[in-house]
Formats: sequence, C-alpha cells, structure tokens
Amino acid sequence: MEMGCIQVFKPCGYCGEPFEVDDKNPNELKRKYCSEFCRTEAANERKRERIKIGKRSYNVECDICGKIFLTNRSTNKTCSPECNHERQKKLSRAGYYRQKEAKKEKAKETEQKRIETLTEVQQKAQAAGMTYGNYMKQQFLKQLEEERERNGRTKDVHKESDG
Ligand SMILES: [Zn+2]
Ligand SMILES: [Zn+2]
Repeated sequence: MEMGCIQVFKPCGYCGEPFEVDDKNPNELKRKYCSEFCRTEAANERKRERIKIGKRSYNVECDICGKIFLTNRSTNKTCSPECNHERQKKLSRAGYYRQKEAKKEKAKETEQKRIETLTEVQQKAQAAGMTYGNYMKQQFLKQLEEERERNGRTKDVHKESDG
C-alpha cells in the first residue's frame, strides 16, 4: 500500500465517465473533462446553445430540393442561393401561366357575351319581323340619329346655360 498517493477520480463534464486526476497538480484538479475530445465537444455544445438562445433558428424544408435546413428566418424557403434562384424561376413561371390563363378566361367571357348579344339581336329582329341584316341597319341608323340628337341637345344646353 502506497501512502500519500490518493487516486482522485472526477466525473467528466461531458461524457460523465470518471477520470483520474493528479491531486497534487492544481491544473489537473481543475480539469473538467476526461479527454480533449470531450472538452471540444462540450465547447461546441455551449456554442450551439448560445446560438439557439441568441438567435431563433428554424428547421425548414427547402422548397426546391426538400432538404431540411437550419435558418434563423422562418420565412426562408430554400436551403441555398442556388435553390432560391430555382424557386424564383419557378414562381415567375407560375405567374406567367396564371396570367395566360386569366387572359384565356377573359377572351372566353368576351366571346360568350358576343354570342349572347348576337342571339339577343337575332331574337329582337325576329320579334320586329325583320331580318338580322335589316335590323342591324336600322339599329345603326337609330344610333346615328341618337348621336345627332345628343349632339344637338348638348349645343342647346350650352346655349341655355349661356343665356
Ligand atoms: Zn469525457
Ligand atoms: Zn435546397
């Protein structure tokens, strides 16, 4: 039995394994970790904690490649500038198709209206006992007449307001 030599074991601050320290060496006694590996890992852990506390971070799934990535902005949609570029391209393409669809829809509507008007006119012509052509001619003349009347009236109104 050796006297004066007490083995001191301390639990590792990272992995929890007891490790031997020289109780004569104050530096050894201050050691918290069993190995360089545990010391570095513990430091990394603290760093990660600090980042977590300092900046909110989010696990977000990339819109393009589907990779889960860590970001401090929950509005981030892509994992990398490349994916972001790809996403912008996709978005503008989608916008283009939406616009095209809207245009098509509008054209369809206009055409539908035109057909409705045509049928309406045909029905009116029929009711008046006229052919479509005659009816349209009459409508045109009536419109001209109305136009002339309107112009004349405007002049009259103008005269009246003058006097
Ligand atoms: Zn350890
Ligand atoms: Zn991505």
